[in-house]
Amino acid sequence: MAIRQITLRGEEILKKKCKPVKEITPRIMELIEDMVDTMFEADGVGLAAPQVGVMKRIFVAMPYPEQEEPEIYVMINPEILESDGVQESSEGCLSVPGYMGLVERPLRVKVRYMDINGNTVEDEFSDFAATVISHENDHLDGILYADKAKNFMTAEEYQERLREFQAQNGEAAE
Ligand code: ZN
Repeated sequence: MAIRQITLRGEEILKKKCKPVKEITPRIMELIEDMVDTMFEADGVGLAAPQVGVMKRIFVAMPYPEQEEPEIYVMINPEILESDGVQESSEGCLSVPGYMGLVERPLRVKVRYMDINGNTVEDEFSDFAATVISHENDHLDGILYADKAKNFMTAEEYQERLREFQAQNGEAAE
C-alpha cells in the first residue's frame, strides 16, 4: 500500500480528458489499491485517477459513508447511461482543499463500468451517491466542481452561512 500525492486545482492534469483503460494490468491494480488508501487517508468519499496524477478513466468511491462497513466502488471506464432529476449538493474536493460549493447534480444516475475483475457492471445511484458518482466522473473529463459551482466559498464561509440559515429557519419555526 502507498499513499499518493493528491494533485491540486491549477495543475494541468486536472483539466485533461483521461484515457480509457485497455487492460487491468498489475500496475493498474496497484494504482487502484493506492487510490483507495489515499482516499481513506484524506478522509474523502471519492478519488479519481487524475487526482493522483494518472490520466486514466478510473475512480474509486465510497458513496455511502454512513454505512457501518461502507461499500467501496472501483469504476473503470465508467459511463453515465442515464440521469434524471435535479438536486443541489454542497461539495468539496480533495484537490480543492478548504473550499465548498453548491453544484446542481442529477438526483439519480445509472452508470456502466468495468469492475476490478474486468466484469461489466451496471448500477444505479441516487441522492448523495449520485452526487459522488457525478463528481468523480467529471474528473475524468477534466471538470472540477469548482468550475461549475453556483456558489464557491471557503469552508469557513460555508459553515457561517449554514449557521445563519439554521438560525433563520429556527426562528421561522417558532
Ligand atoms: Zn473531486
